[in-house]
Amino acid sequence: MDFNDTAEEAAYRKQVRAWLDKNATRKENAKDIAPPKDLKEMIAQSKAWQAKKADAGYACITWPKEWGGGGGTTINNVIYGQEESKYAVPGGIFAIGLGMCIPTVMSWGPDEAKERFVRPAVRGDEIWCQLFSEPAGGSDVAGLRTKAEKDGDDWVINGQKVWTSGAHFCDYGILLTRTDPNVPKHKGLTMFWIDMKDPAVEVRPIKQMSGGAEFNEVFFTNLRVKDSQRLGKVGDGWKVALTTLMNERLAVGGSQGNADTDELISLARNTDIAGEPAIRHGGVRERIADWYVQAQGLKFTRFRTLTALSKGETPGPESSISKIVAAKKMQDLGSFGMDLQDMGGVIRDRKISPEEGAYTEQWIGAAGYRIAGGTDEILRNIVAERVLGLPQDIRVDKDLPFNQAPKGK
Ligand SMILES: Cc1cc2nc3c(=O)[nH]c(=O)nc-3n(C[C@H](O)[C@H](O)[C@H](O)COP(=O)(O)OP(=O)(O)OC[C@H]3O[C@@H](n4cnc5c(N)ncnc54)[C@H](O)[C@@H]3O)c2cc1C
Repeated sequence: MDFNDTAEEAAYRKQVRAWLDKNATRKENAKDIAPPKDLKEMIAQSKAWQAKKADAGYACITWPKEWGGGGGTTINNVIYGQEESKYAVPGGIFAIGLGMCIPTVMSWGPDEAKERFVRPAVRGDEIWCQLFSEPAGGSDVAGLRTKAEKDGDDWVINGQKVWTSGAHFCDYGILLTRTDPNVPKHKGLTMFWIDMKDPAVEVRPIKQMSGGAEFNEVFFTNLRVKDSQRLGKVGDGWKVALTTLMNERLAVGGSQGNADTDELISLARNTDIAGEPAIRHGGVRERIADWYVQAQGLKFTRFRTLTALSKGETPGPESSISKIVAAKKMQDLGSFGMDLQDMGGVIRDRKISPEEGAYTEQWIGAAGYRIAGGTDEILRNIVAERVLGLPQDIRVDKDLPFNQAPKGK
């Protein structure tokens, strides 16, 4: 693989940089990354930025132009991502919809659904959430219990989801349900898209230790959906969910928007330890060097995935390695950034703390990042089984009908 830009790629990078310089502000410190606290303002800013990107062909760069995408290559997408990560731009609220839900609709939805939903999602006019996890089905997604029962041409859905990011401001969601409890757990699932504003959908925010409430419990009481809202065949929900989950590992593994080595170097330059800039301290330099090396490892592992993608292959299990390393790095770096600021590091009041609590937010948020999209333990299992070829984890209920498998209370 050649890591240097070709003449064509260099021209694209130049064009991207010029556009970003004109339309966004370069970020310098971790605080430049923090989104506005006010939810409405955050959504408005994110939508405006997404629409601007869509107009310029930088939203969903690899998707066809007829769907509102940029009609570009995977490498164009990488170049744009590399350049955009240097600017303080909003946009995290579309990651689940555009990274996971809409690709699932595009792969499995009927043509009418694609016609109706893809363009507005690309422009950021409509936001999507992913309704998979339940109290009884998190790591073991196929253990879920929310049931969908056929009633004439409709399906009637009852049950509960948990941890649904953004459900409180999303317009639509993809919902995995159990349609047949008499067959083994992976075989009795079916996926639907749903309207989150339907009165039969109740969203209850979960308060986090950060003070925010970014995810929710979601309850369905006799929610009626049309059969045309089905994504894939009845009973094929697991196959459909795999499209989402594979995209999830990729999207989460390559996430941006947190302080990294550049911001930490800037902080270390501007913070003193015993009257000397922290950057001169051997211990500080050593830690930064460690994270720099990890960042390079992540970059090249991601390039390997992208090489596979650009050849038309599906992303391999190696992106699980990136997620494990990136989440731990995010947490450690957040913790170190807090420590460097001494007492000020734990103050999250933007008026008092010079970094406006950005490292504290990162440290608190990283705990969830180590769980979301696959916990460390689950990802290690994947690496053990699919990358290293070690024997499989024990799965006692795999072939039992779901309603005969042992369950907790
Ligand atoms: C910030 C955040 C955002 C999220 N957003 C969404 C969302 O938008 N939509 C959605 O559907 N879900 C979402 N989730 C849920 C997330 O996918 C689940 O929390 C995750 O899959 C883990 O499931 P669980 O919480 O039920 O833990 P469990 O599966 O109950 O696991 C508990 C512990 O046991 C370990 N464990 C479980 N099974 C094994 C095993 N076989 N081997 C070894 N260890 C094991 C786990 O690693 C973990 O440490 C989000 C979670 C977080 C934290």
